[in-house]
Amino acid sequence: MRTEIVERPPILRSINPATGEILGEFKNMGEEEVKEAVKKAKKAQKDWGKIPIKERGRWILKLKEHIRKNIEDIADVISKEKGVSRFEALTSDVFPILDLADFYAKNTEKILKREKVKIGVWNIMGRESYIEYFPYGVIGIISPWNFPFSIPMGQIIIALMAGNTCVLKPSEFTPKTGILIKELFKDTGFPEGVCEVVTGDGLTGSYLVKSGVDKIFFTGSTQTGKIIMKTAAEHLVPVVMELGGKDPMIVFDDVDIDITTDAAIFGAFFNTGQVCASVERLYVHKKIYEEFKRAVIEKTKKLRVGFSSYEPWGYEIGAVISEKQLMKIKEHIEDAKENGAEVIGGEIKDLFVKPAVILNVDHSFKVVREETFGPVLPIMPFETEDEAIELANDSEYGLTASVWTKDIKRAKRVAEKLQYATVMINDNLITHAIPQVPWGGVKNSGIGRTHGKEGLLEMVQVRHVHTNKLGQKMRAPWWYPFSKEKYEFALSLTNLLHSPSMKEKIQAFLGIAKNFSKISKQKLNE
Ligand code: NAD
Repeated sequence: MRTEIVERPPILRSINPATGEILGEFKNMGEEEVKEAVKKAKKAQKDWGKIPIKERGRWILKLKEHIRKNIEDIADVISKEKGVSRFEALTSDVFPILDLADFYAKNTEKILKREKVKIGVWNIMGRESYIEYFPYGVIGIISPWNFPFSIPMGQIIIALMAGNTCVLKPSEFTPKTGILIKELFKDTGFPEGVCEVVTGDGLTGSYLVKSGVDKIFFTGSTQTGKIIMKTAAEHLVPVVMELGGKDPMIVFDDVDIDITTDAAIFGAFFNTGQVCASVERLYVHKKIYEEFKRAVIEKTKKLRVGFSSYEPWGYEIGAVISEKQLMKIKEHIEDAKENGAEVIGGEIKDLFVKPAVILNVDHSFKVVREETFGPVLPIMPFETEDEAIELANDSEYGLTASVWTKDIKRAKRVAEKLQYATVMINDNLITHAIPQVPWGGVKNSGIGRTHGKEGLLEMVQVRHVHTNKLGQKMRAPWWYPFSKEKYEFALSLTNLLHSPSMKEKIQAFLGIAKNFSKISKQKLNE
């Protein structure tokens, strides 16, 4: 076999997948450029980390206002780079960031305040402890294309509030949005280097992992997450992993069918089904299954597929992001058909897919087991509560699940048994947009959390400060030189603190009192 010389393309061309319009060209950055960006961010962090949290909050609120004023222009860039409606880009990718900025600008100081810790017996022995938090340094953020603004921007804001600086590697499909993020910081007047952006493909991302960043926040597929963890392990770089999903929606027989079918359709097809938390499996109680599926099919036919930059609300279903993504969707639909499923919809034209409802499937089908990440909704019936739970939990993923019923008590009982990091009752998709609560996954859906108090704590290191208030007045009884008296003292102390018998405690106390004055005189230079 001949040697094949493969050159890495020097540029990325951002293209609107809905229209083919070229939106810009961006560097496919190499190792040196990534290192340079990290160097800049490291330098900037020295000053940024010293700024009081309140002042950092004022910067973030300034950024928030800049985003608010330019919300339509920002949404326009995202909408074109993803090939979905501006309405969708505005509501899902930009709007949630305003609330997130508010939350962290106003609550970081409180969450990260120094905290005294009760240290039990050590308190009695004249000691005290507190914990405080300090920034990692530079946070490397590697992002997907499906929410190219809200995912990285949220993580950047949290990182900055915690005193870090950042280097973002946006997806190769959405470099324009990545550069827009950098410009927003620049235009707001942030110090240089606080938010660096390196454009490029997966290789650029891998350079970032080994570039000397202090922590990686990765959002993307489980497959890439595993590769990144391996590289990160070689450099002992800690990671937060926000990965894929195959999220179930469980519908009981007491629901309002009209409302709940609308919710299922939105949950499955929003952002052209390209959401980690999309409804990818719908389980409906047998009693209402026929009526429910009929309504889902009828309503799905009403969704408009297309793209318009003039009418932001003109189409519900935009393009899928790439040929690769299209192939995966096609593979799942064809596999379902070949194995006897009924597929309604699913026709493909260019990068557009008509939303598909899939019936007569079970857990042996690809479309039920693997993440599809497209406008495809398999529906399955169930009979009992236990069966619904078992079906929902039968997945390698554990991102979000939703339970639909008027019986909230039952919903909470079910929620308790679902192996998911988020369970929504009578709602779906929404919680990534709620910054006050943690976001993340269990099983193959991820490690660690973003958002909420928990997400902020992922951005800081913990320092324990311990004071021995007697440290300048006396020696500890376990210091050198070792002696018989000290040995007996240790045994007495053990019994005094831990014996269940009052008699033994009293004896121990007397033993301590007997040895104490001798011990206090024992020192190395005697
Ligand atoms: P992806 O894994 O293909 O790429 C994500 C990012 O990783 C991109 O920026 C890519 O360039 C980079 N990358 C690829 N190889 C790399 C490597 N070896 N080293 C470093 N970086 C590398 O994912 P995608 O197609 O962009 O996004 C879709 C996936 O993301 C889906 O699986 C979806 O479920 C998941 N996702 C998860 C969440 C969440 O919060 N859990 C949110 C959005 C998307």
